[in-house]
Amino acid sequence: MSMYEIDSAYVRRCQKRLREWGAPLSGWYCEYIYDMADEEEDPDHIDLFTCELCDCSQVRFVHVMRHDEYFETVSVGCICAGIMEGDILAARERERLMKNRAKRKRNFPHRQWRKNWYGNYQLTYRGRKVFINNKGGNRYSVYVDGRIAWRYKGKPLDNFVLAAYAAFELADPIERIRP
Ligand SMILES: [Zn+2]
Repeated sequence: MSMYEIDSAYVRRCQKRLREWGAPLSGWYCEYIYDMADEEEDPDHIDLFTCELCDCSQVRFVHVMRHDEYFETVSVGCICAGIMEGDILAARERERLMKNRAKRKRNFPHRQWRKNWYGNYQLTYRGRKVFINNKGGNRYSVYVDGRIAWRYKGKPLDNFVLAAYAAFELADPIERIRP
């Protein structure tokens, strides 16, 4: 998909808004990207984000765009990100990697966890040993590559699924998706 396959009226509308803000039309880059589903307790009820540039209210993956000569970041959806950075393919690729990661995360608790000698769960994921330790009752901790987590989004790991998500964040960090 090239820049020219995007509705030119849409592009003009986005650029008009940037001009109204006194913001540059090009030279933006993606500082980071996040998934609105990651902000939710319940992944089936995702509060979607409204793109700051085109006002589309259906954004799940938020591209946070920065420009060295502009005072603040602008948080947008995929197409607007592509317009701002002048590279739709790059924005789409970022979005695709995020979608795939979201699928991996959702599937992570359901992988083939093995119980080890100590009664803890483990698996090898992308070459890394991932451990979920049950301290008895509803107390879990996770261990990946020398890093330990006791919490997921500030909450104690009181069930296996939460523990698996915490382990996933260590084993498959979002930072690996290079903007
Ligand atoms: Zn937009």
